[in-house]
Parts: sequence; C-alpha cells; structure tokens
Amino acid sequence: VIRCRAAVAWAVGKPLSVEEVEVAPPKAGEVRIKIVAAGICRTDDHVIKGVFPNMDFPVIPGHEGAGIVESVGEGVTSVKPGDKVIPLCLPNCGECTFCLNPEANYCLKCHFSEPQNLLPDKTSRFTCKGKQIHHYLWVSTFAEYTVIPEYAVAKIDSAAPLDKVCLLGCGFSTGYGAAVNTTKVKPGSTCAVFGLGGVGLSVVMGCKVAGASRIIAIDINKDKFAKAKQLGATDCINPQDFKKPIQEVVTEMTGHGVDYSFEVIGHVDTMTAALASCNMNTGVFVMIGELPAGEVVSFDPLLLLTGRTWKGSLVGGWKTRDCISKLVSSYLEKKFNSDLLITHTLPIAKVNEGFELLRAGK
Ligand code: NAD
Ligand code: ZN
Ligand code: ZN
Repeated sequence: VIRCRAAVAWAVGKPLSVEEVEVAPPKAGEVRIKIVAAGICRTDDHVIKGVFPNMDFPVIPGHEGAGIVESVGEGVTSVKPGDKVIPLCLPNCGECTFCLNPEANYCLKCHFSEPQNLLPDKTSRFTCKGKQIHHYLWVSTFAEYTVIPEYAVAKIDSAAPLDKVCLLGCGFSTGYGAAVNTTKVKPGSTCAVFGLGGVGLSVVMGCKVAGASRIIAIDINKDKFAKAKQLGATDCINPQDFKKPIQEVVTEMTGHGVDYSFEVIGHVDTMTAALASCNMNTGVFVMIGELPAGEVVSFDPLLLLTGRTWKGSLVGGWKTRDCISKLVSSYLEKKFNSDLLITHTLPIAKVNEGFELLRAGK
C-alpha cells in the first residue's frame, strides 16, 4: 500500500480537499501509476458540481494526466514499471464489437456503459480516514498514485515531457481529434468554433492543421481571442456584440453558413445556434460540449431535412490506446504545439485555485 496525497471530493458542491490517502497494489490486469502531472478539464468541474447521474461520492476526480508505471498486477503485458503512460478516460479494450469496428471509438468497457465509479471488479483501491473512496472514469488523476485497468493505459514515448503531454489525456486530443479525425475537415473549408476553452482552442488548432481557409472563433469572453488568433482563428466574434442571433451573423459572414461547426461549451442554446450556423445542405455540426443530465434540446427538424448532419464526438473519435501514443509522437515531432494551451501550473495543494481560475475564464 502506498500512502500519498490526493484531491478528494467528499460531497457534491464542496471544494476538493487534499488528503493523505492509501492506494492498494494493483490486482490482476491492473496498473499502478505515479501521476506526475494532471490537467483540469471542465468535465471535472461538472463532477464536483454533481452534474452527472450515478456518481458516487466521495470520489477522486481528474481524468487528464500523465505518469510513470510504478507496478503492475498479474497478467499485465503491455506496460512495465518505469514506462511513461497516459491514463485513458475512454478505455480501448481491443476486443469488444466497437473496438473491433475500425470506425468506432466507444469501447463497451467504458464507464458510460456501466455507470459505477469503482474498478471493473466493483471494488476501490483508494481509502482515506478508513473510508472507501471512489474512482472517476477509472483514472482519478488528481492522486499522486492511481490504479487503472490495463486497457485504459497508453504507453507513450520515453522522451515525452509529462507536464506537457498530460493535456493529451483529454482536452487537446478531444478538440484536435473532433476536427482532424471525427470530422476530417477538408482543406479550404470554413469552420466555426463555439467556446474557446482548452478543448475549443484545440478544435481551432485541428481546423488550422487540416487547412481550413476560415476559422470563426466565438466566445462571450473576449480575453480568449488573442490565443485563438495565435492558434489559427481568422475571425473572433462575441455574440453579445450583436443584436441578431449569432447563427445569422455566421451565415452572413460566409454566404450560406460554414462547412463545419463545433459546440465546445455544453449549453442547449449554443448547440442549436451552432447547428444552424453550418450550411443547410452539406454542413456538419459536431457536438463536443456536455449537457447536464436530463437537459433536452429542441430544434426545427427542417434544419436537418435539407442535408445538415448533427454528429457527436467523444475524446476526438480516437481509438485511444494507439492514437494517444501516436499523438504524443506527433507532439515530439512538433506537428502541433499544445504547450500554448497551458496558462498556469500549480502544485496539487492548490487544486481548488485551479478550479477558480477555470470558473473565472482564465
Ligand atoms: P471551458 O469552460 O474551459 O471553456 C468553455 C468556453 O465557452 C469558455 O471560454 C466560455 O467563456 C465559453 N462560453 C460560455 N458560455 C458561452 C456562450 N453562451 N457563448 C459563447 N461562448 C461561451 O471548458 P473546456 O474544458 O474547454 O470544455 C468544454 C466542454 O467540452 C465542456 O462541456 C466539457 O464537459 C466538454 N468536454 C467534452 C469532451 C468529449 O469527449 N466530448 C471531452 C472534454 C470536455
Ligand atoms: Zn475532459
Ligand atoms: Zn472495447
């Protein structure tokens, strides 16, 4: 058993509490990882606020991170102690029908199919003050040590800087992949990105790498525009600067609407606005933002009748185990610079300050 620090969410709506926890050794098929760095994604904030159903507390959140294998359980063959790895918030068992389908990335062993935040054998490896603490998405990266099933671990290049590539565990890979993988944005096309957080800015980077001729970046926080421009946005607009609905503004700017629109916020109204911002015939709208459980979107079905497509994208559509390792190699080859997304670096003791910065739009 390893004793170390972790950020524990004891109850819905309470700030995280940095505690000493006990982390049990990995059982068969599991890997214990020393987490070196973690990123904060808005989805962790949703967990803390109790947005998701079937979430058991107390829980150690965090689903974006990078670390080093400390020990492995019986039967583990793909990684060994000392390997650098990225925990996968969307696993990739390689055996289920979706893993075997080259076009799918939703592994049936993932937590969305089986909502419970324990490890696959329905037990936890974490305890604190004599209480069992739950895992989150099997990864719980806000702990100095965590235990994860082998099929939710990607081995990465030993040269990778862990404090930088941790972003590839969710935020960067999600946004970048939504553009280059889920949608396969075509050279010369036009794009609109609603929401310029870590994930939305990564969509901008993906559209740019794919060769989009115009990338319209949309946010109500104009402080996000300088970074969006640096990453490839050609136009930055704030919906609050216009009297008319933003979809009309985007349609006028482009003639008939963009070829691809992305919602990276998680609101009902911006989803319908993003849908209506892509052209009526071949336009593709990609939903990335997560709506609170139970929210319903209503829109005029004629928006789809004329040919528009509404798509969803989870972790960039990547088959995570192979693709995230390959993205780390692309990072090392300088095919993109995800370091530009890093605004602050804090020690784990200041994890709540990190969430305050996120909520303040910084
Ligand atoms: P973030 O909070 O950092 O960014 C959201 C941005 O949207 C902010 O810049 C904010 O100013 C802007 N915004 C808020 N309301 C707006 C409005 N009405 N109009 C225009 N802009 C508005 O969040 P993030 O970490 O980038 O995550 C974005 C979303 O993606 C979240 O809902 C998160 O849960 C989701 N997510 C989905 C996946 C996936 O696999 N599909 C993965 C990671 C995150
Ligand atoms: Zn995330
Ligand atoms: Zn699978």
